[in-house]
Amino acid sequence: MSAPTSRPVLPLRPEIVGVAPYGAPQLDVPYLLNVNENPYAPAPDVVEDIARDVASAAATLNRYPDRDFLALREDLAAYLATESGVTLAPEQLWAANGSNEVMLHLLQAFGGPGRTAVSFAPTYSMYPEYARATSTTWVEGRRAEDFSLDTAAVAAMVAAEQPSVVLLASPNNPTGTALPCETVEAVLAAAAGVPGGCVVVVDEAYGEFRRTGTPSALELLPAHPNLAVSRTMSKAFGLAGARLGYLAAAPALVDALRVVRLPYHLSAVTQAVARAALRHAPALMAQVGSLRDERDALVVWLRERGLTVADSDANFVLFGLFDDRHAVWQGLLDRGVLIREVGPPGWLRVSVGTPEETAAFKDALVEVAAL
Ligand code: PMP
Repeated sequence: MSAPTSRPVLPLRPEIVGVAPYGAPQLDVPYLLNVNENPYAPAPDVVEDIARDVASAAATLNRYPDRDFLALREDLAAYLATESGVTLAPEQLWAANGSNEVMLHLLQAFGGPGRTAVSFAPTYSMYPEYARATSTTWVEGRRAEDFSLDTAAVAAMVAAEQPSVVLLASPNNPTGTALPCETVEAVLAAAAGVPGGCVVVVDEAYGEFRRTGTPSALELLPAHPNLAVSRTMSKAFGLAGARLGYLAAAPALVDALRVVRLPYHLSAVTQAVARAALRHAPALMAQVGSLRDERDALVVWLRERGLTVADSDANFVLFGLFDDRHAVWQGLLDRGVLIREVGPPGWLRVSVGTPEETAAFKDALVEVAAL
């Protein structure tokens, strides 16, 4: 009798065989500085407002939510007008369950089999996953040594690959690097040369933390119908648990996303939470200001101790260089401080926490790295 041939029990798609789910380790330690969350929980008045609006939404949960969430899109447009000085119509806004889903929608609409998406490493490690999920070919270039984008290299890559999507994080994760508008404009010019069209996505998940004088790519929207600027309430608003990401783009681009989203993808509860939090934007933005100051002080502190630190426009800092970064990461963890082992070899990334959390990180690092 011949030996039975082993047949797979589950017909997994070949591209996900052996692939681990994305995510940083979730450990129960006193100082969580590993996933770039806002360390400040919503203030009591924000919690109260959210609870009241959720209660009111709960009264009609037998009904599907507003599929087009126009009220939320109006509120997001009003917020961006204050935050970036850019006036947008509600039809130019789109939202989903986190900016991860927003960007997945972009790849669903503009990627797909036979098409290519490109980005430039080191960058956010979910990008290739959106490509994989949509059977889009993934091509990755490199950022320059200082983590900026070499526009000539980008233009050459776009000309060679003819992508239908270019994904650029600004400020970039894990480096913190923001792109000047001239760089984004150069990428848009290169994208204009792709015969089938090319959408340039600027992922501004950390946009609110940019340093004074750093512009937002939102300013480029009026002149560029193929630009999409993605934002999130996970970081500046301190609402990572609520899952609300959004983007701004030309109405025709947003219309394409309406085709690929699942029906009623944004729950009435999510819409209520987001709208309540947006009413508190001024107070929440004041907190962003103190996180920015805390970030700048941390960069100075690390440099004073002889470490190399990437300039940061985000709520985290990439620093190094360590011969054995894992040993440093582990040493910090042993002292109750969880940061992220990410980025090019030798670098580590720490999120900006409360002053108390930052102090714990500094104390632990002084011991572990013998600073
Ligand atoms: N873009 C970047 C660059 C990020 O770092 C993250 C989260 N870490 C996201 C997008 C996604 O965030 P969310 O889905 O919570 O909006």
